[in-house]
Amino acid sequence: MADWCFLLVRTDPNAPKRQMGITFLLVDMKTPGITVRPIISIDGTHHLNEVFFDDVKVPVNMRVGEENKGWDVAKFLLGNERTGIARLGRSKERVETAKEKAREVMQNGRPLIEDAEFRRRVAQFEVDIKGLEITQLRVVSAHDKARDGKPDPLSSVLKIKGTELLQSTTEMVMDVGGPLSMPDWAAELQALSNEPELGPAWATETTRNYLMLRAASIYGGTNEIMKNIVSKAVLGL
Ligand SMILES: Cc1cc2nc3c(=O)[nH]c(=O)nc-3n(C[C@H](O)[C@H](O)[C@H](O)COP(=O)(O)OP(=O)(O)OC[C@H]3O[C@@H](n4cnc5c(N)ncnc54)[C@H](O)[C@@H]3O)c2cc1C
Repeated sequence: MADWCFLLVRTDPNAPKRQMGITFLLVDMKTPGITVRPIISIDGTHHLNEVFFDDVKVPVNMRVGEENKGWDVAKFLLGNERTGIARLGRSKERVETAKEKAREVMQNGRPLIEDAEFRRRVAQFEVDIKGLEITQLRVVSAHDKARDGKPDPLSSVLKIKGTELLQSTTEMVMDVGGPLSMPDWAAELQALSNEPELGPAWATETTRNYLMLRAASIYGGTNEIMKNIVSKAVLGL
C-alpha cells in the first residue's frame, strides 16, 4: 500500500487574501523528487520528518476539492484535529496514575496522597476535566446539528484547554515521580555518576511524554492563534 501525504500548494500567487489561492493535494510519497529526512524528537522517538519537494509532478485527479479552495478543506480537517488534540482521556489517565502512585510515594513520612496541597491539585484537575468533557460533548453535538458539517470555531477552546491539561497533568505525574522521573535515555550518564537508580517505566515514560507535549500547544495551530480565533469567531470581539 502506498504512503500518502497531504500538501497545501500555492496555485494563485495573485489571490486577494493569503488563505485564498491555495490548493489541497494528495501526494504519493514514492513520486520522484520527494526527499524525506528524519527528525528525532526531544523524547527520543522518530515520528517527524523534514520533507523536500523538487519539481514533483502530481496528477490533477489527486486534487482534493476545488482548485484554489484548499484552505477550506484544511480548515475542515483542522477543526476535527483540534477536537481530537484535546485528548481528554489521556489527561484523565494521568490524574489516575498520579493518584495511584501518590499512595506509594512518601512525603515527610506519609503517603503523598494524604498531602492537602496534592489533593487540592488533583481536585482542580478533576473539575477542569469534567468541565472540558461537557464542553466537548456540546461542541460535537452542535457541530452535527447546526453547522452543516462545517468546523465549529469552539474546537479552538477544546484545543487550548485540552493541551493545557495534557501538559499540566503530565507535569503532576512527573512531580509524583520526583527523582524516579529521570529520563531513561540518560543511561550512559548513569554509569558515570552517583545519581539515583533509573526510575520505573511509569515515571520515565511520563518524562518522555512531558518533553514531547511541549509541542502540544504549538501543533494543530498554536494556542495563541487559537485565542485569536476564539476572540473573533466565538466572542465576536
Ligand atoms: C511536533 C510537531 C508536529 C507537527 N505536525 C504537523 C503536521 O503533521 N502537519 C502540519 O501541517 N504541521 C505540523 N506542525 C506544524 C505546526 O502546525 C506549526 O508549527 C504551528 O501551526 C505554528 O506555526 P509556525 O511554526 O509557523 O509558527 P509561527 O506562526 O511562526 O509562530 C511563531 C510564534 O508566534 C506566535 N504568533 C504567530 N502569529 C501570531 C498572531 N497573529 N497572534 C499571536 N501570536 C502569534 C505563535 O503563537 C508562536 O508562538 C507540527 C509542529 C510540531 C511542533
